[in-house]
Amino acid sequence: MTVPTPAPHIDDSRISQALAAGPGLVEPRQVREILQKAKELKGLSRDDVVPLLGVTDPELLGELFRTAGEVKQAIYGNRIVLFAPLYISNLCANECDYCAFRVSNRALDRRVLSQQEIAEEVRWLVDHGHKRLLMVAGEAMPHDGFDYYLKAIDTIYATRTERGEIRRVNVNLAPLEVEQFTALKARNIGTYQLFQETYHRPTYAQVHKFGRKADYDWRLGAIDRAMQAGIDDCGVGVLFGLHDWRYELLALMQHIDHLEDAWGVGPHTISMPRLEPADGSELASHPLAPLGDTDFLKLIAILRMAVPYTGLILSTRETPEIRRAAFRLGVSQISAGSVTNPGGYAHPENQVAGQFSLGDHRSLDEVVRDVLQLGFVPSFCTACYRLGRTGRDFMDLAKPGEIKTHCLPNALATLQEYLQDFAGADTLQAGELRIAEDLDVIDEPKLRRRAGRMVEAVRAGKHDVFC
Ligand code: SAM
Ligand code: SF4
Repeated sequence: MTVPTPAPHIDDSRISQALAAGPGLVEPRQVREILQKAKELKGLSRDDVVPLLGVTDPELLGELFRTAGEVKQAIYGNRIVLFAPLYISNLCANECDYCAFRVSNRALDRRVLSQQEIAEEVRWLVDHGHKRLLMVAGEAMPHDGFDYYLKAIDTIYATRTERGEIRRVNVNLAPLEVEQFTALKARNIGTYQLFQETYHRPTYAQVHKFGRKADYDWRLGAIDRAMQAGIDDCGVGVLFGLHDWRYELLALMQHIDHLEDAWGVGPHTISMPRLEPADGSELASHPLAPLGDTDFLKLIAILRMAVPYTGLILSTRETPEIRRAAFRLGVSQISAGSVTNPGGYAHPENQVAGQFSLGDHRSLDEVVRDVLQLGFVPSFCTACYRLGRTGRDFMDLAKPGEIKTHCLPNALATLQEYLQDFAGADTLQAGELRIAEDLDVIDEPKLRRRAGRMVEAVRAGKHDVFC
């Protein structure tokens, strides 16, 4: 018999009161005290976050951005992890007003990739240098039911080419029952990811007209069910543009506090997609509550300080300019070279509409080069979950700063592997320089030796070197 999971609750009146009383009355001294607290790397409370929402003064905003940058640097160094989404089906029974896959969009060509087609997509992604995938699907069971997703994960892990293999599969799938999550866990997934879209109930009801997704509470409880099934690396997120971003941020923090209380660990990642135009969707082109660029960057900076050990993910929905600014403020993972239509990697000639339009159309190699030239280290590391460093174990290592002794050598070794196997000439040159410079500035002799040994092992022809 399944034990009921603890139910999360978003306290709407508390958020509304905090927003009515808080952000307008922001005192520079109070903001500076909170920024000082953020530098201790222990996170911020919901009460701390409220005054930060109201910061608009350019000087104070500059200090807020700088502090977020310092927090990011202290915890993540200059690493940026790269992945690609893999859309396996655009079949959907829901009516989300903002999404091209919604059931009423009769103009959309529906595709459910066969296992052979999935393997073909994976071969393409592997041959372009990817090691981490996010498997994505609409919410409707293909004819072989839930097994389809399990087989898809097996197919991804089993597909190899002469140039490599996928080493971590994260999934973004509709909410499941505990038993289904247990089956996903047995397939060795990395992170289970699900966005609440909006935490604001009336807006949620307005934009999710019918289908299973219209049930707000079923969706809100999904991460608890995943945790109950033993998936302790979970990702949460908000689709910004549906409701006031400040409300969403405070509600997201309530959700995080609930997960920490119930499971002893918060989310592994937070995603912050902004609404992008989508085939035939009025709403997608005219967001109910637009989130402008400055507020978006402020949101990222506040999140970085509030939950310093949680990965922040930014997708190719955003333009290269916004992505570059966000790296400095706290984003730690990005997708690159993405398509959002099933089959679109191996067969770009198939003009099936994607889920939404993209802001960054560059190839993986162009993104890697850009990241390097900005002074960051693109990382393809997949070590933690393969060595069982997930959930609380990960946080226990991350909080005292010990995880860095793994992350940096792993980042440099996986970058070296990418450079040798996939990089164009300019990327190779920029990458070799970055590795040399980064090895040089590691203060701790033992860590420098370990990183150097791992990079050398890759140069000598070894693959998949990690610690
Ligand atoms: N169908 C599942 C679901 O809804 O949770 C999983 C995958 S769905 C394809 C992935 C995410 O895409 C959604 O959670 C939503 O936040 C995002 N999305 C949908 N339409 C979008 C749009 N027009 N612009 C940006 N993101 C969008
Ligand atoms: Fe379906 Fe997900 Fe798109 Fe909603 S967001 S229509 S559930 S694919």
